[in-house]
Amino acid sequence: MNSEAAQEILQKYLKSQGKLRSTPARMAVLDAIVQTQGHFDAEGLYYRLISNGTRISKATVYNTLDLLQGCGLISKYRFAELSSRYEKAFGRPHHHHLICLQCGDILEFMNERLNRLQEEVCTSKDFTPHSSSLQIFGTCAKCSKTRSTERKA
Ligand SMILES: [Zn+2]
Ligand SMILES: [Zn+2]
Repeated sequence: MNSEAAQEILQKYLKSQGKLRSTPARMAVLDAIVQTQGHFDAEGLYYRLISNGTRISKATVYNTLDLLQGCGLISKYRFAELSSRYEKAFGRPHHHHLICLQCGDILEFMNERLNRLQEEVCTSKDFTPHSSSLQIFGTCAKCSKTRSTERKA
């Protein structure tokens, strides 16, 4: 999906919500997200925007992220005690996450069998899935290596 298509979805959503207007700041947030690959947090996005010369407040970034989540353009994840992470919900294949509790790294993986299993579960419960992502918390390869060298030393 390109920026324009995403903007249209946001604008429709804002209209359906009544009083909300689409401001240049909100569109700047959306634009930045369209260009982002992978996961990001609100703080990082905010600093990226202001370093590009966008006039925007942190509060606007946060509430725009809520709006984008509301209209399904982005997904929000709570990864344990880490800050909320977001990612584009369009133009990306269905994937799952391995989250390292040491360094906060997020690894993505895709697995057809897992997707099929989820479909089976939903069908058997007569449940219509909207979105899903499996989250596995643990220690990444890099961190477990560091840990074992520390132990040896
Ligand atoms: Zn790690
Ligand atoms: Zn992801």
